[in-house]
Amino acid sequence: MRVGCPREIKNHEYRVGLTPGSVREYVANGHEVIVESQAGAGIGADDAVYAAAGAKIVQSAKEVFDQADMIVKVKEPQQQEWKMLRQDQILYTYLHLAPDPEQAKGLIESGCTAIAYETVTDERGGLPLLAPMSEVAGRLAIQASATALQKANGGRGILLGGVPGTQPGRVAIIGGGVVGLNAARMAVGLGADVTIIDKSLPRLRELDNLFDGRIRTRYSTVEALEEEVFAADAVIGAVLIPGAAAPKLVTREMLGGMKKGAVLCDVAIDQGGCFETSKPTTYSDPTYEIDGVIHYCVANMPGAVPITSARALNHATLHYGLMLANKGLRALVDEPHLRNGLNVHRGRITNKAVAEALGYEL
Ligand code: NAD
Repeated sequence: MRVGCPREIKNHEYRVGLTPGSVREYVANGHEVIVESQAGAGIGADDAVYAAAGAKIVQSAKEVFDQADMIVKVKEPQQQEWKMLRQDQILYTYLHLAPDPEQAKGLIESGCTAIAYETVTDERGGLPLLAPMSEVAGRLAIQASATALQKANGGRGILLGGVPGTQPGRVAIIGGGVVGLNAARMAVGLGADVTIIDKSLPRLRELDNLFDGRIRTRYSTVEALEEEVFAADAVIGAVLIPGAAAPKLVTREMLGGMKKGAVLCDVAIDQGGCFETSKPTTYSDPTYEIDGVIHYCVANMPGAVPITSARALNHATLHYGLMLANKGLRALVDEPHLRNGLNVHRGRITNKAVAEALGYEL
């Protein structure tokens, strides 16, 4: 198969769909790999490194899209990209279609087969291709919140860990999955006072065991959410209902009960966000303020640390990418967990949660 990797064009996105190490694996499996010039610049891998790994370098995204049978990317295709997709071409990338009807329409019209990293599953009910980026985003969420809390950045002016004799900052993490766990690790590491709120009791038990008394856990009810959000210096939004738009758990009205200069960091923004007042931001202008509360809603947080993120992502995507390259669409028949990643096929939405969120028939 001819496998193509264009340069990412989303704002401040420095990751790359295929690292040179992945290119070597595809080539070793007998595939041709076409990489757009400078696609790896953000991770410090220039064209010569890709050429040495066995890639053919082309000068434009159009050449990649024209020549490849499968496109491997990181972020959802932007308009100029989905216009280049064609019938029977495989797109293997993050899509986050539920909150993005325009992209869904573009993919439907292209006739391509689009496999979304974020809905591929594993035997334990996890999302193995989302997990590495959730690990990165969860860890970054605490760095971002700590920075936003600084007075000069509009925040309350509190150090999350405090110093001896002062109270540490309070962090409320809504959603104790992969993002939530990794945010908690960093917050606990800094010495903050941390609460994780989740609606899964088995998950709360696991987290309680894992942190051995260093965090509080709370079952997710409106009452618990209000109490924790009002008391928090930083709130991390980390909920997920796979494929669906995130539930709005913090309302505009609740902002009135929050501390002035507190930070809402909505990691779930890529699924539409779990705070009513969230709207996607980019690293060019990551925060905005509503009712005295600082909102941080960067939709591609891991893009800021591309060396870590691109490698971690490739470790997770390579297995199924190779399976697609080796078997073509038969891979979807043979591997049900990969098939769960199928979101669009020949002009139809094929994922139940995505179809429901967008109002399409399956
Ligand atoms: P996950 O499935 O591991 O965890 C989600 C958790 O949310 C689960 O434990 C679930 O029980 C909990 N949950 C669901 N509804 C809830 C509710 N009403 N109240 C409390 N908890 C609830 O998911 P994840 O991998 O941690 O991802 C979380 C979100 O972060 C997703 O939307 C994902 O797309 C997003 N994400 C964003 C970025 C970014 O750059 N902004 C990067 C990676 C992941």
